[in-house]
Amino acid sequence: MEDNAAPLTDELANLLERVKPFAERTCSICGFRGYFGNCGRPPRIDALCPACGSMERHRLFWLWYAKNDDKLLAPVLHFAPEAILEREFRKKSGSMPGAYRTADLYGVADLKLDIEAIDVESESVGTVICNHVLEHVDDRLALAEIHRILMNHGVLIASVPLIEGWEQTYENDAVTTDAQRDLHFGQADHVRYYGRDFRDRLSEAGFVFEEVTADGASVVEFGLLRGEKFFICRKAETEQHHRDAGLVTRLKRWLRSRAW
Ligand SMILES: [Zn+2]
Repeated sequence: MEDNAAPLTDELANLLERVKPFAERTCSICGFRGYFGNCGRPPRIDALCPACGSMERHRLFWLWYAKNDDKLLAPVLHFAPEAILEREFRKKSGSMPGAYRTADLYGVADLKLDIEAIDVESESVGTVICNHVLEHVDDRLALAEIHRILMNHGVLIASVPLIEGWEQTYENDAVTTDAQRDLHFGQADHVRYYGRDFRDRLSEAGFVFEEVTADGASVVEFGLLRGEKFFICRKAETEQHHRDAGLVTRLKRWLRSRAW
């Protein structure tokens, strides 16, 4: 026994040394400046803000949102809301009833909604926020439903676990148990691990999108995950919309021609 004791202690000391925070960071959400904690498995260093509980992707989103809050149209529907973001959104929308609502099928939320069959009127939502949800569900059904409920200029904010080096998303019908899903997809209730073809799924659902990526010095300052990204999606204009827009232009021209 004694022979093993020393190496084990060394190994633990070594491990503890390796999970120590690198440097002080800044939280883009609550403004905390100092050492962040670890989270995840395997642990990610400098990931968790000890003051507000934000993780890397929350801080990445908030960095963008702080400068682009006018890009999210009301009403906002936030699926599987992250507590930290929900708190901030509620603060901002406090005086506007119905401007921000949360939705979840199982957890506590304003609305109990199934993202694969959303019980919400078509073209009635300004913004859908859907972070780390699509890897749990039939994403083609979910994206079609989100597309349906969004207004014409509505916005979808989406993020998923994505391996940029993979051409194709990894799905596997032979993976059926919680333990297997945990091993293959990173969590017991995940059903795939996305490759960069995630973008094709967005396009096929009728979205055009831009990407916000954690890069450069902001990664160091705010404790972000290099290369992590989220997608800002809008409904691609359909031929019908073009026809409608053309009709409006012709109508305006006709009205101008009659002006005196
Ligand atoms: Zn914080």
